[in-house]
Amino acid sequence: MTDTQITAALLMKYDRPGPRYTSYPTVPEWRDEFDAAAREDALSAAAQHASVPLSAYAHIPFCKSRCAYCGCNVFLNAAGLVERYLSCLQQEIAQAAALLGVRRTVTQCHWGGGTPTFLDESQMERLFHALTAAFSFSPDAEIAIETNPASVSEKQLRCLRRLGFNRISFGVQDLDPAVQQAVCRNQTDTQTRAVIDLCRALGFRGINVDLIYGLPLQQERGWSATIDQVISMRPDRIAIYSYAHLPQRFPHQAPLDGLPRPDAPQKYALFALARQRLLDAGYHAIGMDHFALPGDELALALTRGALNRNFMGYTVQHAPDQVGFGASAISEVADCYIQNVKDAGAYCDAVEQGIAPVERGMRLTRDDVIRRWVIRRLMCAFTVDMKHFQQKFGAVFNTYFAQEMDALKYYEQEGMVTVDADRLNVTSLGAVFIRNICMVFDAYLKEQNKGMFSRTI
Ligand code: SF4
Repeated sequence: MTDTQITAALLMKYDRPGPRYTSYPTVPEWRDEFDAAAREDALSAAAQHASVPLSAYAHIPFCKSRCAYCGCNVFLNAAGLVERYLSCLQQEIAQAAALLGVRRTVTQCHWGGGTPTFLDESQMERLFHALTAAFSFSPDAEIAIETNPASVSEKQLRCLRRLGFNRISFGVQDLDPAVQQAVCRNQTDTQTRAVIDLCRALGFRGINVDLIYGLPLQQERGWSATIDQVISMRPDRIAIYSYAHLPQRFPHQAPLDGLPRPDAPQKYALFALARQRLLDAGYHAIGMDHFALPGDELALALTRGALNRNFMGYTVQHAPDQVGFGASAISEVADCYIQNVKDAGAYCDAVEQGIAPVERGMRLTRDDVIRRWVIRRLMCAFTVDMKHFQQKFGAVFNTYFAQEMDALKYYEQEGMVTVDADRLNVTSLGAVFIRNICMVFDAYLKEQNKGMFSRTI
């Protein structure tokens, strides 16, 4: 089946609540009992693999104002907290580095939020120097930041480049002024275009634009114009996410209840339109919702089977352990997941008292490790080499996953996977529904968890 056959009806058929698989097991499975001592053990165990590179993440949870669709951990009007928060980040970074001993090489660093460019230039320098003082960044490290094209300044972008940032991601969401006004996120086409051009001139690579479909007042005409405008800006990567309207969990979304939102068929039509328009414009699809220009390293890594995935999404760097710093930040080290407390004040209180700010976590079982490997291969390479599996885990794939292979027969009949003696392959149609296919291998997916996840489409 070709991409042109991916219709709204097909998307609707497979749309269900499901994880994005930035981790396996997914966050709802992590437990509060995982504490500071468990984190210390995990970091000390990770220190044993001195030559294996790390990925570092810093969370900056501050924003000037709240976008109505936001589902992030954000603090507003918190300028008074920033200096204290930065001091705590410095402390947490130094403490983690001490536990990691000689394991210091970082090949990937990402600042997310919130809006990391809420920090001014001297604050950004301070945080960056805390990271480079604790870790040794490899010369080809991927150093990325998320930002808002409407608020980031030329001075900040120049500062970031000077520090060594080389990737940047912009939250654009939609360029239709009516939609922007509804979701409290105003940024003109001209502004966005100028910032992207400037980043390109400054030497940023892998420039990414995030879009959201399913927002209030979105209609085919305005969305179509947004897609065309964004394509004409030629970002290296475009990610298209589905809006999750969850006013019970995010009460600031409640005012959007009063505005018309695309219904399910309209929403699928918006996605199908965007997908086809991007493919026609020469972008390569990476899974369901990511697209990259053919020369971009994500597209090249996909072709080589060298794509990786972590909490920040797809990446070309292979750093099996990730250390996260800041409120709500997640670490994945030594087969453990660890999440920090979400409240920025509580995070600072803990760090200042010399307590690791752990909220919850999980130590993976052998079965978790095996399933995580399979799900990552599916998400990143869209194929699983069964002989490689056997060499790695000493188990026969078809025997270990007898039930799952049975369940996959349905997807085989649908033309989404093919199975031969040595390989499970995902077809180009199956790649669009990759989350559904991965769910077959998820041992935790129970009915009660389904409400925790966004929908697969
Ligand atoms: S900029 Fe991002 S994190 Fe901040 S309020 Fe808007 S959506 Fe949320």
